Amino acid sequence: MITTKFCIFCGKPPSDKNREHIIPRWLIELTGDPKRHVRLGFKKAFRTKWSERQFAFDQFVFPACEICNTKYSALESKAKSTMLAIFDDKPVSSTEISTLLDWFDKVRVGLWLAFHLLDKNIYDIEPQFHIDRRIGQFDRLLIIERSKPEDRFLNITGTDSPAFTYTPCAFGISVNGWHFTNVSFSYLVARRLGFPFPRKVVMEARGTHAELVEGRNRVMHPVVQFPLPDRCVSIYQPMYKVGLVPHRSELYETDYVRQNSLDHQQGVGAVFIEQNGGVLQRLEPEATVQISTDAKFDNFEQLARMVVTTCKLQNWIDDEMYILGKMPPEDKRFIKSHRHLARRVNDILISHHEELIKKHQSELRILQHGRTNI
Ligand SMILES: [Zn+2]
Repeated sequence: MITTKFCIFCGKPPSDKNREHIIPRWLIELTGDPKRHVRLGFKKAFRTKWSERQFAFDQFVFPACEICNTKYSALESKAKSTMLAIFDDKPVSSTEISTLLDWFDKVRVGLWLAFHLLDKNIYDIEPQFHIDRRIGQFDRLLIIERSKPEDRFLNITGTDSPAFTYTPCAFGISVNGWHFTNVSFSYLVARRLGFPFPRKVVMEARGTHAELVEGRNRVMHPVVQFPLPDRCVSIYQPMYKVGLVPHRSELYETDYVRQNSLDHQQGVGAVFIEQNGGVLQRLEPEATVQISTDAKFDNFEQLARMVVTTCKLQNWIDDEMYILGKMPPEDKRFIKSHRHLARRVNDILISHHEELIKKHQSELRILQHGRTNI
């Protein structure tokens, strides 16, 4: 059950005592005292009550080889400058957004491995990949929202649940009133952005199978068939360097794919952006854009909404993406029981937070009108 230590970047035993901040130090400092104690999910155990997990934020570090750590410092500093530009309402380029999406891949997979280590593998899942193998691999979506500014804060959403443990594809991070929900999954936006896509994906004993077909060479609206928040900026990017299925590279040798890519050689699709329900825009490689959206809710409500959205996204991906094919009955049972648990916990989290939102809204109404009709 207990996993041995591994470098969160390459998965090998770490060669030295070097450690990596999964939530980077610059972000911790930007949002308050770096030594502050924060709650990071629950300490899990069989047959005993779970307790809240507390951390001094600057101690939330995990093993990493020094060489790996150094390799990623350039990505970290680029992501930092793009995030700071967004917070300052300055324009950011298409390439900067693409790099920022790499950084979200890093943080998402890093958090997944961090909770795996902290939970001592209670869910019985051995990681088959580490940060190195997940950066820039699969299609991505980033939803950006704002809340009414209050104190400085940093919050992580959706990472301490069975759903995220089984498939670390969607999570949220909130920074001083800016809220980012990040999703990455193979072919998440490919079909509706006109790229080659699989007809269906079937998970079998010897791996995942799918038949990749030609793209439709046009964009379909909405890009994802999932209801996005009312006021938000949504960013989509198809990625095709590798896929879940054996690659049919000739399908990507089309004018459409070339025109809609940032780096065709590397399989990096163009960045598409939609601001507050406006027209979907494809950004040219050197084009810049200012990320701008209004605050609709206070922090409390926004954070509760993030939990609802993240859990629903995780459920949606589970619904849409996998069909179980031929495999031994015990494997099928194992996967089904995991999915069932993931869904149950997410549904409880969704209804609990929807209740919190309702209660909060009625309290706000009482505050505004000084009376209640209940
Ligand atoms: Zn390493």
